[in-house]
Amino acid sequence: MNQKIYNIMKSTKKISWAEPYRMKMVELLKMTTKAQRVKAIKEAGYNTFLLKSEDVYIDLLTDSGTNAMSDRQWSGMFMGDEAYAGSRSFYNMEKSVQEIYGYKHVIPTHQGRGAENILSKILIKKGDIIPGNMYFTTTRLHQELAGGKFEDIIIDEAHDPNNEHPFKGNVDLKKLDAIVKKHGASKIPYVSIATNVNLAGGQPISMANLRELHSYCTKNKIRIIHDMTRVAENAYFIQQREKGFDKKSIAQIVKEICSYTDGATMSAKKDALVNIGGFLATNEMDTYEKARNLVVVYEGMPTYGGLAGRDMEAIAIGIRESVDDHHQHARVGQVEYLGNKMIEFGIPIVKPIGGHGIFVDAKAFLPHLTQDEFPAQTLAAEIYIESGVRTMERGIVSAGRKSNGQNYYPKLELVRFTIPRRVYTQAHMDVIAESTYEVYKRRSKIKGMKMVYEPQYLRFFQARFEKL
Ligand SMILES: *Cc1c(COP(=O)(O)O)cnc(C)c1O
Repeated sequence: MNQKIYNIMKSTKKISWAEPYRMKMVELLKMTTKAQRVKAIKEAGYNTFLLKSEDVYIDLLTDSGTNAMSDRQWSGMFMGDEAYAGSRSFYNMEKSVQEIYGYKHVIPTHQGRGAENILSKILIKKGDIIPGNMYFTTTRLHQELAGGKFEDIIIDEAHDPNNEHPFKGNVDLKKLDAIVKKHGASKIPYVSIATNVNLAGGQPISMANLRELHSYCTKNKIRIIHDMTRVAENAYFIQQREKGFDKKSIAQIVKEICSYTDGATMSAKKDALVNIGGFLATNEMDTYEKARNLVVVYEGMPTYGGLAGRDMEAIAIGIRESVDDHHQHARVGQVEYLGNKMIEFGIPIVKPIGGHGIFVDAKAFLPHLTQDEFPAQTLAAEIYIESGVRTMERGIVSAGRKSNGQNYYPKLELVRFTIPRRVYTQAHMDVIAESTYEVYKRRSKIKGMKMVYEPQYLRFFQARFEKL
């Protein structure tokens, strides 16, 4: 055992964590050769989103919808009530949302962006400003399509991959106050708050910051809408890092977080341990009424919203499993294990290690490439070629273009290694870190790329590249 880890163990007298489950079924994977992978990534236009899943060994593209469901969730699938209206599975899901998160009204949607679409249409008017703790691709796009403009109010530390602030998801209240003073509260339909901020690298917001934000927004009569996709992972970090929370359960912390917000959009494909689904939640009767009207246009009846009964049943169970303390410890523990291995190899990653994945700093990994040569896109392609590990770009390609056509140049140029929940083993984590190190050793020889096809919306999904 490595001396550092041994010393930590000795000082804390803790034994290793392990998964609070065992395997009952396994999915066999195809093993490929390097020559096959070189061909596959070229055919995919050097975009890992365009690879065939079959050609991937360890799939870290996303933690979205890639979770392993439990035996209880699978049993729930068989019990799903497929009635067009009034499905029992809807009421089970509604009960889970009300009991675990505390929101009053719930409308299912096919996934998170379905909820974002409806909520943005209801709350945002042309010319409105939506401040938020860092943008998320689909969230910001729906805000913009509804006529609003997103303004980033996350603390500056979040934009610095080397800053070890324990709560990089925090809001800078001075930034928010400046926006309120400039535009007036009436121009701000809500503040958009993500828990465990995805694009900052899975970084949490603290309870203290949320409380402060809540009192500021109450005073100024501005709603807080919660992008609660990873709320349980955020709660885990609060439990581990914030004073006064070490004796509280994840379930208690989750409930308190939600209590400071007025409504939420959820992609159940993340925290809630399912393969598809989401919902919109609100405490406001008026918003609920409007959402019930709109969901029929875009998703389906308010008691299924684009989901099968079985999917709602799996979500109802997954929400409860997601707030189990042992589950979150193993979940985030595995991500931290991989991150620490990367750090030992000297690979530059965003710190502190986030909740749902490791974010490699591509600017530091490939310092000889300019941002216009797509360092993160290039690195993701090289990692796939090395070992069949599929990661994804979160940098200039994901950031897209401004409404005037110019590229956004995000400060962070990252490759995301997202870990699906309950899917891979510690041995897989070893292979991921070791093969990234192989690429690191030959990094100075890696050339950049140019974009040869660019779709209009969310270009990172379908853009194609060629090697320079
Ligand atoms: C995934 C995600 C969404 C969108 O949800 P989908 O289910 O993919 O539509 C919104 N916000 C955050 C933070 C996410 O990670």
